[in-house]
Amino acid sequence: MSFRRIEDAPASQTALVRVDFNVPMADGAVSDDTRLRAALPTIQALTAKGCKVALLAHFDRPKGKRVAAMSLQPIAAPLAALLGAPVAFADDCVGDAAKAAIDTLPAGGVILLENTRFHAGEETNDPALAKQIAALGDFYVNDAFSAAHRAHASTEGVAHLLPAYAGKQMERELDALEAALGNPKRPVLGIVGGAKVSTKLELLQHLIAKLDKLAIGGGMANTFLYAQGAEIGGSLAEKDMAETAREILAAAKGKCEILLPIDVVVAKEVKAHAEARICGLDDIQPDEKILDAGEKTVRKLREAMKHSHTLIWNGPLGVFELPPFDQATVLTAQAAAELVKDGKLVAVAGGGDTVAALNHAGVADDMTFVSTAGGAFLEWMEGKPLPGVEALKR
Ligand code: ADP
Ligand code: MG
Repeated sequence: MSFRRIEDAPASQTALVRVDFNVPMADGAVSDDTRLRAALPTIQALTAKGCKVALLAHFDRPKGKRVAAMSLQPIAAPLAALLGAPVAFADDCVGDAAKAAIDTLPAGGVILLENTRFHAGEETNDPALAKQIAALGDFYVNDAFSAAHRAHASTEGVAHLLPAYAGKQMERELDALEAALGNPKRPVLGIVGGAKVSTKLELLQHLIAKLDKLAIGGGMANTFLYAQGAEIGGSLAEKDMAETAREILAAAKGKCEILLPIDVVVAKEVKAHAEARICGLDDIQPDEKILDAGEKTVRKLREAMKHSHTLIWNGPLGVFELPPFDQATVLTAQAAAELVKDGKLVAVAGGGDTVAALNHAGVADDMTFVSTAGGAFLEWMEGKPLPGVEALKR
C-alpha cells in the first residue's frame, strides 16, 4: 500500500491532524486516556520538525449542532499533561477565530480545535466545510484509522484539498493490515468466531477468497454444524441461515479449507461455572447448548497455526465472558502468542469482543497487532475500501 508518511511531511508548516479523541468520559473528565496517548507519536513527530499542530476530532454524536456536553475542551488539559507542553483550544474547527489562534501559536505549538461534528457538513462531507478546514493549514495528516470507514469532511474531504499524509498510528495499522491480508506471507489462516453468521456474512465471503484456511468458531459455527446435519440441541444458531452456510462451504471448496469444531463444550445453562461437559458432534442432547469449542478442536487449531505464517482473527470461539467457556479462546490466543514470540507467526486481530477476549487471555500485547478500530477494522476485513485511507493513497 503506497501512501505518504510523516517523514515525508514538510518542516515548519501548519499541520491539520485528524485524531481519534472519542474517549470515554465520566463526570466531565477523561476516564481512559488510551486514545490520547496513541496520538502522541504523531504530534511529537510533527512538533519536532517545528510544525504547528492543529488537532481535528469528533466527539460523540452532536448531529451537526453545538452541544456543550460534547465539547472537546475537557480534553486539552489531559493532553497537555501527557505531552508535557501547552495545548491551546479554539472553540470552532473553522473560521477566523481558529485561524487567529493558530497564527499566534509558536513554532512547534499545539492547538485542539472544537468538535468537527458541531457542523452538519462534517458527516455529509460538505465540500464547503472541507474547504474551510483546509484553509487553516498547509498539509493534512490522518491518524484516525477508526474513523476512516466514514467519508466525512475531516476524514476524507479535506484530504483531497491539501497534501495528505498518514500519521504514525494510521501507518502502523495500515502496515499490519497489509501484512495480514493485503500481501501476506502464506499460508494464511483466518479465525472467525462470535455470535452470528448474519452479522459477518460479507466477512466470511471475502475471507474464503483470500485465505488458505478459515476456522469458524463461536455461535456462528453452530449454524454451520446445523447446516451439515448435526443435532445442536438448544445452541444459539440461525437456522434460517443454513442454506447460506452451505453456500459458503460450497464456494470455499478447492480454494480455502474450512475448519469447523470437531468437538464442543456443552451445558444446560448459560452462566458462569455452569456444569459442563465436552462431547462429540453426535452426542449433543436436546436440552444442551454449545458454549465453547472442545480440546480436540483447540489442538487442531494449534496445528493449523503452526503450519501457517499469518493469522487474522476476529471473534471469540466461545462464550468467553463466562468461565469455563473462555477456554478455547484463551488457549488458542496463548498458542498464537507463543508462535508470534518465536517469530513463526504474524498474528493480527481486531473486533470489540475480540480485543476484550485477548485482554482476558492476557496476550493482547503479544500479538503482532491488535486493532481497536471496531467498524473500520471489520469493513477493511470485508474487503471494502475505506474512504479515509483511499484518500491517502498515491
Ligand atoms: P467481535 O465483537 O469481536 O466482532 P462478536 O460481537 O461477533 O465479536 O461476538 C462476540 C460474542 O459471541 C461474545 O459475546 C460471545 O459470548 C458470543 N459467543 C461466542 N460463542 C458463542 C456460543 N457458542 N453461543 C453463544 N454466544 C457465543
Ligand atoms: Mg461484538
